[in-house]
Formats: sequence, structure tokens, C-alpha cells
Amino acid sequence: MMKSSRLHNLHLLILTFTPLSTQISVFLQPKPENAVTVAVSSRVLFRTEREQKVFEQKGVEEYLRYQIEHENEPFAPGPAFPFVKALEAVNTRLRELYPQSEELFDIVLVTYNHAHVGIRLINTINHHNLFIERFCMTGGSSPIGYLKAWHTNLYLSADAEKVREALAEGIAAATMFMPEKLTEVSESQLRVAFDGDAVLFSDESERIFKTHGLDKFFEHEKENEDRLLDHGPLKGFLEALGKLQKKFYAKGQRLDCPIRTYLVTARSAASSGIRALKTLRAWGLEIDEALFLAGAPKGPMLEKIRPHIYFDDQMFHVEGAAEMGTVAAHVPYGIAQKYSSQQKMSSGK
Ligand SMILES: [Mg+2]
Repeated sequence: MMKSSRLHNLHLLILTFTPLSTQISVFLQPKPENAVTVAVSSRVLFRTEREQKVFEQKGVEEYLRYQIEHENEPFAPGPAFPFVKALEAVNTRLRELYPQSEELFDIVLVTYNHAHVGIRLINTINHHNLFIERFCMTGGSSPIGYLKAWHTNLYLSADAEKVREALAEGIAAATMFMPEKLTEVSESQLRVAFDGDAVLFSDESERIFKTHGLDKFFEHEKENEDRLLDHGPLKGFLEALGKLQKKFYAKGQRLDCPIRTYLVTARSAASSGIRALKTLRAWGLEIDEALFLAGAPKGPMLEKIRPHIYFDDQMFHVEGAAEMGTVAAHVPYGIAQKYSSQQKMSSGK
């Protein structure tokens, strides 16, 4: 196992390139430990379904030929595109306020592709005026080691297996899907929405619900109101967003902050919600808006919020949000993964 992955690494090609746009050259490239690093796979940043089909039906040689033949045709934006654009809008504001600071979003494009396909990806990045300077082409091997080396704060991919691997390594990660319809989102304010249990928090309470039902869950949460919830896989990303938000607050821009965060949970305010709020407060994390839906569907609420991305551990909620035009990403973590299909309709919380 070790040997083969070492061998694979020999094929790895990492390109750091400067897009054609000249203004990028004056920007500092932040060190990974200072930046909020978001790694995005090419299959979620762009729409590559047609190419995927060529690969699946005709094999790798035909696929490479196809990509080279089409290398001057940019890919269309994929589900992570508006999110990445919003990260860049926040960076513009941060650079105005703090020209020398390295505390910025840093976007890494991760792809399993062969270097030949890189040309088409670079052409696409320039076509869409994206400022992506880090580019990791793994030639088929797993990107997880590189995600760690880059101090990745969030990894978004179409490959659920890789997402699970990243989560197992303690990296915040989520699977994204190709949506059928998309709600228009803000170009100047980044909006990120999180589920609570098994996303920001551990799945401790979710386990009670899944094994003993809703009444026991409420009872458990009431009894444990003053005991903090353990942290979940996306807590670190909320923390990173909070760190950048504070930079705007420090300049008197709290009301005009270009980052807004939301908790969208099926917990109910009166009973189980208080434990969630107490936990966030104890962690020193502010969430701008908290919505306790008490089991009501999340889709209509998310349609109003219009987040660039919404994270949930249950496919039921991810699908419900996506049906209403929200870009929803699945966090394959915790007890809900064992119940994914059979309890679809009975997901009361
Ligand atoms: Mg949950």
C-alpha cells in the first residue's frame, strides 16, 4: 500500500502559475498557514459531465485526445463556481483594508487529471477571470497528503470517497453535486449555511435521535443543556470564517461585512436549540443567523437565505435544498450515513 502510493507520488505535478491577468502579479501569495485554504476539484468548479462521459465510455486515450482538441473551449461554471467567486470578492475587500496581510482565502484547484488537461483548465480560469494560482494535478493519485501539506481548511469534491478520506484525516470536506437549477446568489457577500448536528457539532445527539427517536432526543438535550457538544467536521471552517469576519469588524465594518454565516438546524429553539447556542458561544464562535426549524423542511428557508453553499450530513436535506435551487454539499460523517436510504422520509430532525 505504502509502496504504491509513493510510486503514484512520482507522477504528481504541482503547478503554481500566474494567470494572464496582470493585476494578480502585485498580490502577495499567502503562506498556507496564514491563509484560509479552500481546495476545490475541477469537477465541482466547472461542468465537465461531457468529458466524464467520454472518459467512461471511450477510455483515457480518447479522453485526452478530446481534451486537447477542445483546449480552447472554456468549461462552463459548476456548483462551486459562485462560492469561489464570492471568496475572491471577500479577498478584494480584505486587500483594500489590509494590503500587507496574508489572512485571505487561498484557492487550490485539485484535479486527478493529466497535465495535458491542465492547459484547458488554465484557459478556463483565465476566461472566467478567476484568481487561482495554486493548481494540483495528481495524475490519478489521492490528493489527501497535499491537502494536509496546504493546511486545507475546506475541501470540495465530486468524489464522495475522497471526501470521506479527507474527513477521516480531520480535514473539513464535503461532496458536491451537479444541480439542475440554481438560485441567483450575491456577488458581493459570501453566505455560508451550516447544519448543526454532525456538521458543526459531533453526531452525539444525532445518535440518540436515530436509536431512540425524537422524544428521547428532546429529553436528552434538555438534560444535557449545560454540557457542551463536541466539535464536528465543519467547526474549523466556521472558525476560519469568523477569523476573517473579525478583520472587518475591527475596521468598523460589522454591518457591511462581506461574510455572513447561518445555522440552519432541525432542532427546535425552545428545547434542543439552547444547547447548540451555548456550545457556539463557549467556542467563541458567532453565527450571524440561527434558524431553528423544529423539523420543518430546510429547502424553503435556504431559498430565502440564498447561501453560496449549505452543508448537511443527511442526503435527505441536501436533496431537499438542491430541489429548491440551493447549492447543497453533503458531509458524509456520523451516524446518519448508516441510515441514509431507509430512513429518508422519517428524518424528523
Ligand atoms: Mg445533521
